Amino acid sequence: MKKVVASSLYEHSNQYPPMMGVPELRQAIAAHSGRHAGIPVDWQSETLVTSGATEALAAAFLALLNAGDEVIFFAPLYDSYLPMARRAGAVPRIVQLHPPGWSVDAAELEAAFSPQTKLLVLNTPHNPTGKVFSAAELQLIADLCIRHNCLVLLDEVYEHLVFPGTQHISLRSLPGMAHRCLRIGSAGKTFSFTAWKVGWLSGPADMIKAVAKAHQFITFTVPSSLQRAVAYGLDSEQPFFCGLGSVLQQKRQLLERQLSEIGFKVLPADGTYFLVANFEGLLPEGSSEDDVEFCYRLTREAGVTLIPVSAFYADRSEAPRTLVRFVFCKTDAKLQAACDALRAYFGKRS
Ligand code: PMP
Repeated sequence: MKKVVASSLYEHSNQYPPMMGVPELRQAIAAHSGRHAGIPVDWQSETLVTSGATEALAAAFLALLNAGDEVIFFAPLYDSYLPMARRAGAVPRIVQLHPPGWSVDAAELEAAFSPQTKLLVLNTPHNPTGKVFSAAELQLIADLCIRHNCLVLLDEVYEHLVFPGTQHISLRSLPGMAHRCLRIGSAGKTFSFTAWKVGWLSGPADMIKAVAKAHQFITFTVPSSLQRAVAYGLDSEQPFFCGLGSVLQQKRQLLERQLSEIGFKVLPADGTYFLVANFEGLLPEGSSEDDVEFCYRLTREAGVTLIPVSAFYADRSEAPRTLVRFVFCKTDAKLQAACDALRAYFGKRS
């Protein structure tokens, strides 16, 4: 893919590419959708290339939401959602996922819908928890969205990062959902090239057309050499992204085993490169240290930086206080060095 970027710079025009994306990439996105998600997509009317998934999210919020519209999110939630939905004038309605399995309570979800509900945002596989929504949970969400005639924005940037034995199912593939769902993908996650910032949307032509109007005035277009390389990657590097799940599962196992030995209580997950753990058992007797304080202390004193899970909540008073997020898309040597540093800090011998 790097060679394709380099040769594209020399062999193709270096002027603005088409606003919707170069045809090669839009065709590759459509083919990828059919091949991996079982969702047929017309590349000319149902795809749009964006500056990463982040711009896809921003453009979708600006295009689909009017002032006062309500949007349903699940918490914990990825950090760009709320600021961007609020900038579009929307009102967030937040439904909690319940640890340790990050389950959805059907009654709580149902209660979040109102006549003002315009959009539901679903991120699966999920950052920060690593949860992959089950077929039953997806059916529940689909039934409610159909009943309330609600649109859905599907953040599926981790679609290939699922561990063996688990299947990622796109909500868009369920009956009655194709015409109300926009799916977001990211080359950053699919190819582990987060620097590239190439993302895409696929969905019904009318929704894509609306989002393209926002995209026109946000970034207008995306570097064409990177787009061509991503097209090549989606078509020809399938073994790479289809193999990510088992590589990541091994890394997770390496980390999980050692964190448990150190005294963290690791929460279950079926995908992504995030691991959430409870550190309560590592606190001195009587300590009321919260996740933010714990992360500062470990950065300063153990040289390992974790992310407090409360950072993924709009209202920190609703957030769990003793959960932290690790990331394990790193070399085994780096993961081992982090575990060694934590072991030494907490005085545990290997
Ligand atoms: N959605 C989620 C859930 C993410 O975790 C991320 C990246 N951390 C993004 C979107 C943004 O992806 P991109 O780098 O393609 O903008």
